Amino acid sequence: MYDVIVAGARCAGAPLAMLLARAGHRVALVDRASFPSDTMSTHFLWQRGAARLGAWGLLGRLQARGCAPIREITFDVGPAQMSGIGPAVAGVADTYCPRRTVLDALLAEAAEESGAELIEGLVVGDLLWSEGRVTGVRGHRRGSAESALRARVVVGADGLHSTVARRVAARPYREYPALTAVYYSYWSGIAHLGASFHARPGRLILVWPTNDDLTCIYVAWPRQEFGRVRKDVAANFHSALELVPGLRETVASGRREGRLAGTGDLPNLYRASAGPGWALAGDAGHHKDPSTGMGISDAFLTAELLAGAIHDGLAGHQPMDDAVADYQHRRDALTANGFDLALATARLAPLSPRLEAFYHKAAGQPELTRQVFGVLGGTIPMAEVYPIGTSRQR
Ligand SMILES: Cc1cc2nc3c(=O)[nH]c(=O)nc-3n(C[C@H](O)[C@H](O)[C@H](O)COP(=O)(O)OP(=O)(O)OC[C@H]3O[C@@H](n4cnc5c(N)ncnc54)[C@H](O)[C@@H]3O)c2cc1C
Repeated sequence: MYDVIVAGARCAGAPLAMLLARAGHRVALVDRASFPSDTMSTHFLWQRGAARLGAWGLLGRLQARGCAPIREITFDVGPAQMSGIGPAVAGVADTYCPRRTVLDALLAEAAEESGAELIEGLVVGDLLWSEGRVTGVRGHRRGSAESALRARVVVGADGLHSTVARRVAARPYREYPALTAVYYSYWSGIAHLGASFHARPGRLILVWPTNDDLTCIYVAWPRQEFGRVRKDVAANFHSALELVPGLRETVASGRREGRLAGTGDLPNLYRASAGPGWALAGDAGHHKDPSTGMGISDAFLTAELLAGAIHDGLAGHQPMDDAVADYQHRRDALTANGFDLALATARLAPLSPRLEAFYHKAAGQPELTRQVFGVLGGTIPMAEVYPIGTSRQR
């Protein structure tokens, strides 16, 4: 019998298991994958995400695995460009872009070191119930019989298509259909490009340096163009790069080191994330368009909030069901600005004249530039910096 079973061992599940194990609880951390392994995701990490790694004692370890800090980002909206970085969070001034093979393995390892039992290669298929409460999971390994694990709380940190969410029939709310479709890959030989965001009407192009001197390049199109784009991904990808002067030629001078991975499965939603004996963390409970690169930082946030709530329940400071219900409210409040920003960004709308004027002004004022990066990084609410009424058009 465990105190907590966490299904899913990446950005939400592994830190949650780590924090609960550090607090002295008996935790099983289950994933159908094994680590290190990649997943469909680029991996830009804002200061607030890096600050959590720092607080958990893991930021130095990430750097030691070849993940260099990113100290300047160019934000280019066409008529205006600015370079800078947002305000530091808890003393962490830099952003990072760790490959998921590196980051996720490090997180799973940290959970194990903290005392969580990491169970790889186990697919959670169903939940155990008793008197209306979730009391465990049923899982199976490829080719072997089903097994049952029991716990006081089961957490679904099993991503957008969460089995736990499906089994508890978690109610979705604030639902918006996918707005973008994206493709990305990695190139060697162009590390001098640095980090940049290029917003154009109908396109978003992101360039990030990552581990092994590779550069990750990501292009987003309106979701309705997915069918057309996927007919010839390479041609459409390179033609999008032409929107940024010189980018197509620079990328052509490098070498692509992986496939062009892509998806149009990018819905925007929250799900009810707390119930009797269960909770949801990370993408399982709240998913949004990746254009603003906030999913990992928010997965860390939910891990920390939920670990505190479950600890309060297990330690008897608060009834468990109340503690996890409070977690959901706090998560919703703390992610609301980022959700609005992701929706606004993912609409890939043309700049309004007012917003264009604002960006021109921001480009000439270092403090305003810093605040714009603070908004992009999710540490300053958009309404505090941007002209009112333009939140839908970036
Ligand atoms: C194209 C793309 C680009 C992105 N770029 C960024 C970015 O630059 N920055 C950023 O912050 N975010 C980005 N995101 C978002 C980010 O990937 C997610 O928000 C983040 O991975 C959420 O972490 P998670 O732990 O909740 O879920 P996941 O990373 O999805 O992990 C879920 C885990 O659960 C396991 N699992 C699932 N089902 C089961 C089961 N039944 N039994 C056992 N295990 C199971 C899976 O194997 C997986 O390991 C991007 C997403 C996409 C799609």
